[in-house]
Amino acid sequence: MPEGDTVWRAARELHRALGGRVLTRCDIRVPRFATVDFTGETVQEAVARGKHLLIRGGGDDGWDIHSHLKMEGLWHVYGHGEKWRRPAFKARCVLGTEDAVVVGFELGFLRVIPRAEEDEAVGYLGPDLLGPDWDPDEALRRLLEQPERPIGLALLDQRNLAGIGNVYRCELCFLAGVHPLTPTAEVPNLPRMVQLSKKLLEANKERSTRATTGQLRGNTLWVYGRSRRGCLRCGTPVALEQLGDRETELRELYYCPHCQPRLDAQAEAALP
Ligand SMILES: [Zn+2]
Repeated sequence: MPEGDTVWRAARELHRALGGRVLTRCDIRVPRFATVDFTGETVQEAVARGKHLLIRGGGDDGWDIHSHLKMEGLWHVYGHGEKWRRPAFKARCVLGTEDAVVVGFELGFLRVIPRAEEDEAVGYLGPDLLGPDWDPDEALRRLLEQPERPIGLALLDQRNLAGIGNVYRCELCFLAGVHPLTPTAEVPNLPRMVQLSKKLLEANKERSTRATTGQLRGNTLWVYGRSRRGCLRCGTPVALEQLGDRETELRELYYCPHCQPRLDAQAEAALP
């Protein structure tokens, strides 16, 4: 499941293959942009912006190839003549240089925009957890703009902070010991949760295994995907529900009813 760390790593790999190179091939397999051809132009850089990936080329007033991996997307870098590890019909974008071929497969989203429109395209995103503009105070301010919104949704909304996907939102709620439906303003230590988001993405950005438990094999996650196995900490069956709203897609929500009790349930339990 691509999240900010996956996209950060993809951008770095694409940057190594394309940054400063002249394109010898440009094949965009999306009907609307099928006639776009940047062959002969130079790519400046590939950068991640939250879960979005921008390949910038053609100089300062040039163009961007703006993509999003969504659920299944991935980018591969190949040598010339190397066999692709995915079927060619799934390729949405093929960029070649003298040394390499970069292929984007099953991208959930791909378009070409003038550089001048970049801000319109990704400017709405909140502080990028892995970006040079990371600003925890601003992320906190944005999260608290909707104090009643469940934290499980607020974390997923890229306008608050950019880079968290479904795995991290579930794991972060677990690590904070909060039920995902807890109103954002009632999360006991929200600044710490924001800090922890940054820490988890930083820790995972260099590796292909996404771990929140400190273990890189086997039990890498506390609750995500564990509805059959139970909570890694206490063994209670992990609850699986769907949670989304107008700004976020409906996605599976995993949580441990024991480690992450509802606050109203806690209040009830405390009654004499
Ligand atoms: Zn538990």
